[in-house]
Amino acid sequence: MKIRSFLQITFVTILILIMDIVVQQTALYRYRNQQVVEITQELSPVRFGLEKEIVSGLLLIQGMANHISIHPTFTQKEFALYAENALRISPVLKNIGAAPDFIMAYMYPRAGNEKMLGVNYRSLPKQWPQVQLAWLSGGIIVAGPLDLVQGGSGLIGRTPVFVRQNDKENVEGEDSFWGIVSAVIDMDRLFESVNINALSGLKIAIRGIDGKGAEGEVFWGRESLFDPTGDPVLVDVFFPSGSWQIAALPVGGWPEESPYSLSIHLFMGGLLLIGLFLSYKDIRHRIEIQNVKEKLGEAQAFAHLGSWEQDLRRKTLWWSDEVYNIFGVSKDEFVPSEQGFLQKVHPNDLVRVKEAYRQSAKGENAFSLKYRILRPDGGVRFVQGQGKHLRNEKGEPTRFLGTIHDITEQREIVNALESEQAKLQAMAEATYDPYIMIDSQDTILFWSPAAEKVFGWTNEEALGQKMHELITPPEYIEPALEGLHHFAQSGKGPVLDSISELPAIRKNGEYFPVERSVSAFQVGDSYYAVGVLRDITERKKAEEKLAQLASTDELTGLFNRRTFIEMTEYELKHSKRSGSPISLVMLDADKFKNINDTYGHAFGDEVLQVLASTVLSCVREVDILGRVGGEEFLLMLPDTPLEGAVGAAERIRAAIEQVELQHESGETIRFTVSMGISVCNHGEESFDDLFNRADMAMYQAKQKGRNRVETA
Ligand code: GH3
Ligand code: MG
Ligand code: MG
Repeated sequence: MKIRSFLQITFVTILILIMDIVVQQTALYRYRNQQVVEITQELSPVRFGLEKEIVSGLLLIQGMANHISIHPTFTQKEFALYAENALRISPVLKNIGAAPDFIMAYMYPRAGNEKMLGVNYRSLPKQWPQVQLAWLSGGIIVAGPLDLVQGGSGLIGRTPVFVRQNDKENVEGEDSFWGIVSAVIDMDRLFESVNINALSGLKIAIRGIDGKGAEGEVFWGRESLFDPTGDPVLVDVFFPSGSWQIAALPVGGWPEESPYSLSIHLFMGGLLLIGLFLSYKDIRHRIEIQNVKEKLGEAQAFAHLGSWEQDLRRKTLWWSDEVYNIFGVSKDEFVPSEQGFLQKVHPNDLVRVKEAYRQSAKGENAFSLKYRILRPDGGVRFVQGQGKHLRNEKGEPTRFLGTIHDITEQREIVNALESEQAKLQAMAEATYDPYIMIDSQDTILFWSPAAEKVFGWTNEEALGQKMHELITPPEYIEPALEGLHHFAQSGKGPVLDSISELPAIRKNGEYFPVERSVSAFQVGDSYYAVGVLRDITERKKAEEKLAQLASTDELTGLFNRRTFIEMTEYELKHSKRSGSPISLVMLDADKFKNINDTYGHAFGDEVLQVLASTVLSCVREVDILGRVGGEEFLLMLPDTPLEGAVGAAERIRAAIEQVELQHESGETIRFTVSMGISVCNHGEESFDDLFNRADMAMYQAKQKGRNRVETA
């Protein structure tokens, strides 16, 4: 990322630098071209002037030559007349001369040119070659500029004159050489006439001595101006028989940069700033996108949720990183495609997946399906696929995009939960005790089969009902609901994690005891309680029986010896405080051994039961009767003095005497009892004392013939 950003910035900078250089060069080139055009334009009047002046001068020479060839004999005066006229027409002409047979015989003006008169060209080694050239070429030859004998410098135009021979042999017009006509063009006047000095902004040089053009030597200005490296503007000046070349350069040399250089630099600088700013924005945008992509990837990885997109026209498929993870393949080794994807779908789910794809493509249903995929390592993953076809204006599907969610773990959790629930259900069904679950609002959420049996309400009847209204006796409801209210707030309560017994009501209104144990659990913010309400009716009965057995005698149902003694001792303590008398009656069946021996032990038992019930029928409710030996009984009479006790004993004795029992043999059996009475008047005596005295009295009754009452 960093390298890419650095490269991008470097690229933008270099690009703009190159653009700056190219634009600068182009601007400079155009500016130079423009200057060249301007210089050329500036030079053209000079060039035209030079050409015009030289040509007009030379035409005048040619005119004279033509005249001579027709009139070969003329006087000095005639020559002067023509020359004067010519010099007036062409002010650049310095003089005109005519040299018949190469000897300068005519000259105008004479003044200043006297030296030239009578000069034979043949004797001027510097000029002779040029003169010869004019003679041989037959046309105008320009020589110079050169330093003149008369002073100054001049351009010399020469033309040969041929005279037509008018004799008969020469009808065809063979000409004979007459001589040379020449004129000097004054260079100073020439340059003056073309205003060459007005070209103040330019350095000027001219070459082409003897009309040799670029080949000729420089005669004006500095030769270095023609150096091609200096890139001078070159202009040719043409005239008959030759040419010159003018070189021109701006006085300050060619500009190094165009006048727009600074503007271009500034513009490019601005462009660079914009480029860098855009790059910065682009880089930031890319970094943001990168961050978002990373975060999205993390989120997808965290949720095991991948996303994908299929371009239906290009037949390409894109997967997010998490899709690769879910399929267990790496980006390097697997290129996603619809075919490749379908190959990874579990064979048993393939038909369903294809059908769901088809329906989504037709626009019938969005793609939403749970299916299995196979990983390269053979692992099977459960996934939830979602997808949707996107369509163009014509309604044709163009893209298919969606998500794939790996739900393998959730599925395992759900499976585990389901099996846990099934286990719990089975346990609840198997157990004999009712299981009931309620929420903190007392609503029944679970009602086990045992609960149906015990309480009489079916599952359908019970579910959704308020539990306490259904099974709690009205008098217990209010405190129970208070406890439940507290439980709803805190998840705690007095009934939790404890076992207690309490009454409950069946559907038929019957009360019965239950043993209740409750535990609670929390899901989210809500609390729930599960109670086991064991029906303990049978146990309670058994317990009561046991308690009875422990305190009473099984045969007669009377208090046994231990209980009788405890109760009597309690009464004795009470009488000690209150001072009320207590009487104790000892009762023993007479000759009971005989009954047993004669009629059997079972019959004896029957007799004992009748005896007990007969005694009970003779005494008050507050009196206590106990069986303290085989056929021995003790009767305790609270708040009873001796007389009362004797009266009671007599009633008993008489009642028993009257009892008749029918033996299975048909025989009528009667029996009697003997009794001894002792009284404790102020509770001072112990039970043992009281008992011993009653026992003694009873013994006396035996002694005295039985079926009697004796007192101690
Ligand atoms: P008495 O008291 O008049 O002197 O004569 P008795 O025959 O009653 O004398 P004793 O006290 O020696 O005998 C008591 C008999 O009572 C002995 C025993 O067989 C009988 N007996 C004691 N307990 C039971 C019992 O629970 N059932 C029956 N059927 N007989 C009992
Ligand atoms: Mg006895
Ligand atoms: Mg007896």
